[in-house]
Amino acid sequence: MSLTKEALEDYFLSIGEKKYKAEQVLEWLYIHKEWDIANFTNLKKELRETLKKDFNTDFIKIKRKEEGSLVKKYLFELLDGNFIEAVLMEHDYGKSVCVSSEVGCNMGCKFCESGRLKKVRGLETYEMVEQILLIENDIKDKINSVVVMGIGEPFDNYDNVLNFVKIINYPKGLAIGSRHITISTCGLVPKIEEFSNFPLQVNLAVSLHAPNDAIRDKIMPINKVYNISKLMASLRKYLLKTNRRITIEYVMLNMVNDSLDCAYELAHLLKGMNVYVNLIPYNETNNLEFKKSTRIKEFKDALTSQGINVTVRKEFGDSISAACGQLRSKEV
Ligand code: SF4
Repeated sequence: MSLTKEALEDYFLSIGEKKYKAEQVLEWLYIHKEWDIANFTNLKKELRETLKKDFNTDFIKIKRKEEGSLVKKYLFELLDGNFIEAVLMEHDYGKSVCVSSEVGCNMGCKFCESGRLKKVRGLETYEMVEQILLIENDIKDKINSVVVMGIGEPFDNYDNVLNFVKIINYPKGLAIGSRHITISTCGLVPKIEEFSNFPLQVNLAVSLHAPNDAIRDKIMPINKVYNISKLMASLRKYLLKTNRRITIEYVMLNMVNDSLDCAYELAHLLKGMNVYVNLIPYNETNNLEFKKSTRIKEFKDALTSQGINVTVRKEFGDSISAACGQLRSKEV
């Protein structure tokens, strides 16, 4: 599950087999959800034996689940004993999963529960693919969209995340349309520029969370490396190159970044860009001092009055520790 179709074809060619076997194997894995190589009955017995020798087929495990009305949160145990989380959300338009991309995170955003554990390692591609597969298996239904917005900074694990995107997008496999896949970054400028060359039409979301460096410096250490003007310049280049609308994520923190002045400053910053702003009501946690803003509606109206497209993210589940990182932090 770490291999794209092309990589699996290369493997079959390397062992002297025809490359169409790759498609047969992917059909077992993703369409029939058959994960025991012994049962790949359209492959010869000797080939199945070779596959068993060449591949490790141990899966990550669902360790615990918490369920709310339209949301389920999964805690996964990885083969090396580390824990990560994923969240399933049911929308009118289908089911979406928010996956993790790293064990821990080095970005240190002050409001983030996940970031309290420093990065241990990036996830392997299969560890991301299996989050989706195990959830589909658990709910006996298909996932329609995926956001890479859970624990970790996806662009800090760039190659594995983009491999993951190619695998879940493969049309004869999980077949999640590229426009239904979103990668969220806290603003790693060089990677944003690299990502503008990625051939699939995947959405980019950027966690901005502040309209100026003074505030962003205080809540997002990455801003000291790539400040707002560098970030905006990279987003302008990305827009020119891809012509794809960017989502600007803005977590609403009481008395930190939620004043009307902030709204007007944000509108000014984004004027004329093909973006829309997603305001995120903050999920309060016991461990961090931030509070949920009480001015979300006023802030939204101020942005709208300035011609900025804006939505407020639906709140799914602080009742089930849905703030990213909460389930894992209870475990370790
Ligand atoms: S918000 Fe995202 S990038 Fe920032 S510390 Fe948390 S997981 Fe890392």
